[in-house]
Amino acid sequence: MSGIDVLVSCENAALTFGRGATAVVAVHGADLSIRSGDRLAVVGPSGSGKSSLLHLLAGLEHPTSGTVSWPGLGGPAGIGLVFQADSLIPALDVTENTALPLVLAGRPETETHHQVTEALALVGAADLADRLPEEISGGQAQRVAVARVLAQEPRLILADEPTGRLDHVTGGRVLDALLAAADRTGAALVVTTHDPAVAARLTIRRAIQDGRLLAPEDTP
Ligand code: ADP
Ligand code: MG
Repeated sequence: MSGIDVLVSCENAALTFGRGATAVVAVHGADLSIRSGDRLAVVGPSGSGKSSLLHLLAGLEHPTSGTVSWPGLGGPAGIGLVFQADSLIPALDVTENTALPLVLAGRPETETHHQVTEALALVGAADLADRLPEEISGGQAQRVAVARVLAQEPRLILADEPTGRLDHVTGGRVLDALLAAADRTGAALVVTTHDPAVAARLTIRRAIQDGRLLAPEDTP
């Protein structure tokens, strides 16, 4: 497989917050490559470094040591990140929330409308288009957050505990939407979770413990 198939590569990438006696090593030298078509689960308990690792992959944090590069993307711009926390803007309806990144990027209105309609349909949220965030459930809001990322047509989707605060059935639907979207658009997908049942739905699993990303063969 050629190097250009690698969308993002971490080589001995570490991330430390703070310095001196109070420094916290959130990620110890991680080695990881994500290729087109990969479906990866990063599995670990709260505080193990999952969000920190995703933020490195997304280029939101710079590694304290080691490197993160995007050979097949030319930079982190082609990455869509579904944040862990509630991320919809309360004053905007579902359509406006989904359209926001495209509007901010100055994309033409007709193209934005088309992308948003397709993305909402793909996550099964077309009927929520005119609702405000306070008028939809947590699971629906998480699917809209997925749609907002899909509308940007990312080649790599990073989803940070997308099922974390949802019940089993609702979380399953969010995962269905992510997997269907990745299949449909050809995007690679990385999902973080503390739930082995969620991790089992992805094709590759890597455990993370105390900031250390384990090799696939060491992942339970
Ligand atoms: P997870 O997403 O698995 O719950 P995080 O990546 O959020 O784990 O956190 C890993 C470690 O880094 C934790 O000890 C956490 O307290 C610490 N940490 C995360 N973000 C920051 C920050 N901005 N400043 C200081 N410490 C942080
Ligand atoms: Mg986290």
